[in-house]
Amino acid sequence: MATINLDRRSFLKAAGGLGALSVAGAGLAAPDRRAFADETAFPEQKHGNPVEATIDPKTGDVTVNEDVIVRNSACLGCYSSCGNRLKLDRASGRLLSVGGNPYHPSCAYPYLNFEDPLEEAYRTMSFAHGKGNIVRATVCGRGQGTQDGYSQPDRVTVPLKRAGKRGEGKWRPITWDQLITEVTEGGKLFADIGENQDIEGFKALHDTETPMNPDQPDLGPISNQVVFLGGRGDGRTTIGTRFSSNFGTINQYGHGST
Ligand code: SF4
Repeated sequence: MATINLDRRSFLKAAGGLGALSVAGAGLAAPDRRAFADETAFPEQKHGNPVEATIDPKTGDVTVNEDVIVRNSACLGCYSSCGNRLKLDRASGRLLSVGGNPYHPSCAYPYLNFEDPLEEAYRTMSFAHGKGNIVRATVCGRGQGTQDGYSQPDRVTVPLKRAGKRGEGKWRPITWDQLITEVTEGGKLFADIGENQDIEGFKALHDTETPMNPDQPDLGPISNQVVFLGGRGDGRTTIGTRFSSNFGTINQYGHGST
């Protein structure tokens, strides 16, 4: 049987590419970090997404790539609401990758404390300084798949207004300013497609004193006519609760009807 005599440096050169010290999480099997302990030169990157930082293997010093933005956030891939970690290209705003949030107990254990600096978060993504093998954070495959949801061309990113009969499936994009004006002021909002009905805006219903029906005072004030029907309780609901409370309606619930 032929034997291959490959010293460590040659092996590293052959491995090349993304380099073991990148914090990009290239999805490769974890290398033996002892093999890299003496390496100080970061290999020139030729493939893949740009790395967000490099870590000095001896000192643990972090050098951040300013071209890449990293945000620790939360995943909405399913009901679990894990943390996630997003890598964005600063120039284009493009989402480069989704990974685990080292501050979140669903992604890493032990996880970082909120007080720990972001530099420490970078450090956990490497194998330098004895870090990455302890709290290298992950998300599940579906969590990584949210990147496709973000970039798929049919994703709704602007308000859409009905541009045909109900159920006809016709919509047109409008600005956020138009949306806010129309839902607050109300009026004949669909006159342009031949519908003449007056639609009450939030202003017309913002009355927390007058009973909506004097014969049934238990229904509360007029403002309770605004019903906030939201989705699941995944974080976005909190914003809805804030709006409903400030507006003065108690009628907010999720589609689970529980
Ligand atoms: S990381 Fe996976 S389990 Fe967690 S919220 Fe996202 S899709 Fe759900």
